[in-house]
Amino acid sequence: MKGKVIIFSAPSGAGKTTIVQHLLKVYPQLEFSVSACSREKRNGETNGVDYYFISVEEFKQKIANGEFAEYEEVYKDNFYGTLKSEIERIWKKGKHIIFDMDVMGGLNLRLQFGDNALAIFVMPPSVDHLELRLKSRETETPESIARRIGKAGQEIKKASLFDNIILNDHLETALAEAEKLVGDFLK
Ligand code: ADP
Ligand code: 5GP
Repeated sequence: MKGKVIIFSAPSGAGKTTIVQHLLKVYPQLEFSVSACSREKRNGETNGVDYYFISVEEFKQKIANGEFAEYEEVYKDNFYGTLKSEIERIWKKGKHIIFDMDVMGGLNLRLQFGDNALAIFVMPPSVDHLELRLKSRETETPESIARRIGKAGQEIKKASLFDNIILNDHLETALAEAEKLVGDFLK
């Protein structure tokens, strides 16, 4: 079967992982697409659950082999991508796929899947909020936070290209809005 695809994109720190993890609990017919990535594993992350952690060399080999549905070098030497095999794996189980990915990757996948895709942009209240949230998440170095914030302005400019925009200011409101949009799309 070919199921539906739901894509959440946003600048880093806007809250897309929080929203996606909530939706996975609410809708058992969804499964998270585990991306491949070449960044270091953070404390608390598990290989094969959060990402397939691979080296830059292995990532480049998979690009050359045509194994990715999409990929981006989101930050220098930090490649992230969706393996075609991951999409097939989830569809084979009869589930719909939910993706958490950067803005360019999200727009790319949306084009590939057409009407079968719902692409949602998670908007932070401001870029200052992103910085505060990334600091409070305690996963990034000051350099990594600066790199992420440095990209946010360009990413926010692309928000109108998505099917919907969810403002993630008050979390409970954003979660309820996400549930409604996704529930309607899955009907
Ligand atoms: P992303 O996946 O977009 O990088 P996360 O979901 O990891 O973002 O959220 C970044 C941090 O902000 C996390 O520590 C998360 O708990 C927190 N957070 C998410 N939504 C909100 C919100 N509405 N208000 C305050 N903090 C939030
Ligand atoms: P993080 O390092 O915070 O886990 O992710 C950094 C960025 O890469 C986030 O915007 C995240 O959504 C994005 N990302 C994760 N997986 C993929 C993917 O498969 N493809 C693309 N293009 N971006 C991804």
